Amino acid sequence: MSNIQAEANKVIEKAKSLADDLVNKSCKARSKKPHTVQFSRFIKHYADSIQKTIQIRVEQDLVDLPDPKLASKALRKLELVLSRIAYILATLLDNHDGVPREIYYALDWFLRHCPTGSEEIRYICTPGPELSMSEFNEILASFQVANIYPELDTALKGKRFYFIFLPHEFCSRDASLMWPLIFHEMGHVVDYQFGKTRAIHPSIAVSYAELKSLANNNYTKAIEKLWAQEFTSDYLATLIAGPCFIWQFFRDYSRIGSIMESSRSHPAHKSRIMNIVGLLREQGLTEAARNTEELLKGISATGQEQFSSDFMARADMQEVFRYYKANCKGFTNSDLEGFIRSINQTVDNLVQDILNLRPVIAPPSVLYTIASFCEEIVAKASAQELIADCLSRHCVAEQFKEITVKP
Ligand SMILES: [Zn+2]
Repeated sequence: MSNIQAEANKVIEKAKSLADDLVNKSCKARSKKPHTVQFSRFIKHYADSIQKTIQIRVEQDLVDLPDPKLASKALRKLELVLSRIAYILATLLDNHDGVPREIYYALDWFLRHCPTGSEEIRYICTPGPELSMSEFNEILASFQVANIYPELDTALKGKRFYFIFLPHEFCSRDASLMWPLIFHEMGHVVDYQFGKTRAIHPSIAVSYAELKSLANNNYTKAIEKLWAQEFTSDYLATLIAGPCFIWQFFRDYSRIGSIMESSRSHPAHKSRIMNIVGLLREQGLTEAARNTEELLKGISATGQEQFSSDFMARADMQEVFRYYKANCKGFTNSDLEGFIRSINQTVDNLVQDILNLRPVIAPPSVLYTIASFCEEIVAKASAQELIADCLSRHCVAEQFKEITVKP
């Protein structure tokens, strides 16, 4: 056997053993929570795709690159990329179980209010350095898997899986008022799934990493495409959950300023906030809109407002908003008032209940609209823990509603 053939065999063996290790690890995962089970299934699909195609890929490398030096280099690169992806998946598998389950209740509730497509949205939350979301195909793109291992890329193309990265301060039940910021990330997930902002400047339909690199080189269409994603995620977070995202955004403004900063990847703050204010008004949440405008006075202008606002007003951007408004179950002031009437209560009483640590079983949109603007609740860790508990109770109540007893 030639040296290069021996090297090729080793790479096949290594790739198969990495795939086996991942499957074994996911089988051993103690948690049988639905999201973990979905993630394990996804890992199984990934591993099976490697088992089925690695030999074909390696043999093709040997045919395409008759020079043993070049073939050896390609094989080493293939092995390195597969090792890195396996490491990422193994780390996610190890770490994701520490996220409070109430976050999943809130995010699953959010997704139930979004359009249902042909494919279920599958995701896990996992601790990470900054609040962000990533889809698995984007991770593959960042390793140029489409060039290095096209058979794997093809096998996974139609299979999406999302990872929501949460800084450690989010992963605590007494930080439940921070969680509406995650609704913005879920907005990215929904828009990625439905591809509505991809229709803006369709000529540059590229991965997020490529888009960011084009934007860093001041390519206007790429910048606008990234902005479209941000405007849309703000819009979805507010459409479904009400004003809680924007209130938490203001509260955390100094801390997350670097993330939310007006930049090539994010539009100017003021235009983002005005987009949200406009939507709150449309939903009849006028008091929230007024309060938001008040808070807006404390945000300094960046000089990009006009540019961002002009972009937001474009017909194709407005078309994206219209699509989501027509296809999501949005939250309106009538929903808020209707719920409060149905339980014979007032907003003030419900605020007092939360402060006195009495559970309020309400949809997350109602619960957050009532609680997230109240500084007394924000300052009280036990009240925030209670809100996490309320999210859990609401989820159980919804499940009971779905159970029909046969006569
Ligand atoms: Zn974003």
